[in-house]
Amino acid sequence: MKVLKFGGTSVGSAQNIRKVREIVLGQDDDVIVVVSALGGVTDKILNMARLAVIGAEEHYHEELKLLVKRHQEVWSALFPEEPALPEPVTGILKELEQVLTGISLIGELTGKTLDRVLGMGERISCEIISLFLEARLMFSPDFIITDSHFGKAAVDFRETNHRLQEACRNFRGIALFPGFISRNRQGDFTTLGRGGSDYTGAIIAAALDAASLEIWTDVDGFMTADPRVIRNAYTIPALTYAEAMELSNFGAKVIYPPTILPVYKKGIPVHIKNTIHPENPGTIITQSSANGKERPIKGISSISGIALITIQGIGMVGVAGISMRLFTAIAREKINIIFISQASSENTISFAVEEQYATKAEEAVCQEFEKEI
Ligand code: ADP
Ligand code: ASP
Ligand code: MG
Repeated sequence: MKVLKFGGTSVGSAQNIRKVREIVLGQDDDVIVVVSALGGVTDKILNMARLAVIGAEEHYHEELKLLVKRHQEVWSALFPEEPALPEPVTGILKELEQVLTGISLIGELTGKTLDRVLGMGERISCEIISLFLEARLMFSPDFIITDSHFGKAAVDFRETNHRLQEACRNFRGIALFPGFISRNRQGDFTTLGRGGSDYTGAIIAAALDAASLEIWTDVDGFMTADPRVIRNAYTIPALTYAEAMELSNFGAKVIYPPTILPVYKKGIPVHIKNTIHPENPGTIITQSSANGKERPIKGISSISGIALITIQGIGMVGVAGISMRLFTAIAREKINIIFISQASSENTISFAVEEQYATKAEEAVCQEFEKEI
């Protein structure tokens, strides 16, 4: 059995969804399909929620209408005989409108509410695409259980693996799961982080010991650099898990970084393929790959929107426990550190965090070292 994940652009139009069907039906194995929301939909929903919280009612209604129209158009192109969107889809769109009204009335957007609305793109796309593929729809939030860290929830692998294994014990044929969405123990919707549908694919592949995980996207595989930035970037035929993790952690958006770990642990190969050009070989990610003397550097990636915070003081030199206090203070705020460096003279420590957490990180450091400062 294989797991095939199709990203937003791969399911962004009726034409591409037909490509997806060709790819899925062309497999000679049982297939689990994971789908994202239609390309751009999650961003649109996020924007609507932001408009709702500032009370820009007219604007978000306008956006909502466009969202309904987009899904309606895709639906009509796929099912010309059945003009009306199916009931589950209209139900989710209605729910979206109601929650947006709630956000607008209260003027508050909590992480819990945001996760509920952000997941609606996948909740809709899985309904439409499962009908088109005639696949058994399996609702990921019933199987993928997380903590309550809304926005980027941590998976409870014990529970999740158990549920997936029970549900797919005698699985044959084609099943379809929405990517990105999950639930906490209380039954609230959570999400696995932006770009998280890749991770859904990896979680399912690892739980079910799949033969491979295929990530179908809009480029010819893992490339030597971001093709939007570097025009002559080219596809890397093979990467190791460690190389893929390193490149994706440092900005290669083609794969969501947490995706690698579950498949790495099980030794499941990952293929990155282009939905529009399935004939191209793409990239294979496995335990080992020849590095070659001619091209020892596999690729270059970069991330923007990063803040570098430096703490400096002669008083830090030779004092044990400074780093521990610093990083404990940051961890307490649940801020992820991307990079750390300390001068060997020990009088500066620098670390990098996402820009949005910079002020919070600075406050945490200032509070921890209040006496020294
Ligand atoms: P999907 O919707 O299929 O998940 P994403 O937009 O998340 O697709 O990821 C694919 C995109 O990642 C590509 O269109 C490309 O612009 C970008 N990207 C950034 N770095 C790389 C890289 N090194 N190799 C390939 N694609 C990259
Ligand atoms: N739709 C989600 C996002 O845009 C998840 C994904 O596409 O992987 O972040
Ligand atoms: Mg993606």
